[in-house]
Amino acid sequence: MTILLRRAFCSHVCPVGTLSEWLGKRGAAFKVPQLRVRGRIDRALGLLKYVVLGLVLWATLSARELVFRGACPAYALISRHGTDISVWAYVVAGAITFTSLAVVLPFCRWFCPLAAVLTPLSKFGVARVKREGASCTDCGRCAAACPMDIAVDQLPQVTEGRCTSCLSCVDACPKASDGTLYWGPPGWMGDRWSRAVLFAMLLVCLAGAAAAAYLVPLPSYVKSRGTPPERTRTLEMRVSNLSCRGRANLLFWYLDRDDMFQLNSSVPGEGTYFKLEAWPGPGWSRIRVTYDPATADDDAVRGAITEPYFNLREDRLQTQWMEPPFGIEGYDPLTTDPGRLAW
Ligand code: SF4
Ligand code: SF4
Repeated sequence: MTILLRRAFCSHVCPVGTLSEWLGKRGAAFKVPQLRVRGRIDRALGLLKYVVLGLVLWATLSARELVFRGACPAYALISRHGTDISVWAYVVAGAITFTSLAVVLPFCRWFCPLAAVLTPLSKFGVARVKREGASCTDCGRCAAACPMDIAVDQLPQVTEGRCTSCLSCVDACPKASDGTLYWGPPGWMGDRWSRAVLFAMLLVCLAGAAAAAYLVPLPSYVKSRGTPPERTRTLEMRVSNLSCRGRANLLFWYLDRDDMFQLNSSVPGEGTYFKLEAWPGPGWSRIRVTYDPATADDDAVRGAITEPYFNLREDRLQTQWMEPPFGIEGYDPLTTDPGRLAW
C-alpha cells in the first residue's frame, strides 16, 4: 500500500490518523486557536518517532512480548476495551484528541512508530501530487493546506516520504480544475488518477490483506523446544482464556514441563521436540501443537494443558490443587481421563 500510495494508510485507514485529521478540521471550524509547528522545529520533533520506534523494538525484543500494545491508542480504538488495554492507552488517546484540535496531526507527525516505518518506504511511493508550474499562480494555498508542512507550491512533484496522500493540497488549489495540481503515478501509468482510484486501491490492498489472513492464517505466537524429529504429529484444538501473547507464553509453560505430562515421558527432563502455534484472542482461540509421536500422544498434550496444579509461590506445602486457566473445546478431562479423579 505504501509503495503504491505513500502514507495513504495514515490518512485514510489508521483510526488515529483519520480521527486526528477530522478533529483538526473541526477545531479550525470552531475557531480553536491553531498552533502551526513548521520548519526546523517540525523536522526535529519528527525525529522523535524514530526514538519511539527504537524503544518499542528494544522493549519488545527484550521482553519477547508486545509490551507497548496495552498503551497503543490505535489498538485501544479497535479493541474490545478489555483487560489487555492499560489506562495509558486512554491517556495517550485523550492527549491526541485534545491536541489535535489545535495542532495538525501531532501523533502521526512526531510520535507514531508505524509512521517511522512507513516514511522511508513512502519516499519510493508511485503516486504523487504533481504541479504544473506554467499555470500555477504561486498563491501558496496548497502549501498552507498541507498538514505535513510540505512546500507543495515550490515542487514540481511531491516525493516526500511524509506525504499521506490526503489530497488537501489539491482540494485547496483554486486552479486544480485546470489541471495545475493533481495526483497520479508517473506518466507511463496514466499520469493522473482520481480520488476514486485512491479509494479503490486502498480497498484492494485491505481486501488482499484480509484474504491473505483468511487463506494463510499465520499464528501470532510461535515457540518451540528441541529439534524436530523426522516424523511429527499435529494436534489442533480451541482453548479458552488465551486472550493475549502473555497467556500463550503461559500455555507454552504448561506444555514445557518435567513430570508425567512432559511430552517426552521416556527421558524425563531432557525435553524432546514440541512446537506451539497460537492465535490468541477473545473467546475460544485456536492453537496447534506439533510434537514427536514417539514420545507422547494426544491425551498427554490435552492433559498437560488441563491438569490442575499447585501454586508453589503461595502454597509451598502443596495442599491445594488449583484449577488450570485453560479449557479445551469439546474435551472434559474428567470423563476423558477418569484416573484424574483419584488425585
Ligand atoms: S496536502 Fe498534499 S502534499 Fe501534503 S500530505 Fe496531503 S497530499 Fe501530501
Ligand atoms: S494552490 Fe495551486 S495555484 Fe496556488 S501555489 Fe499551489 S499549485 Fe499553485
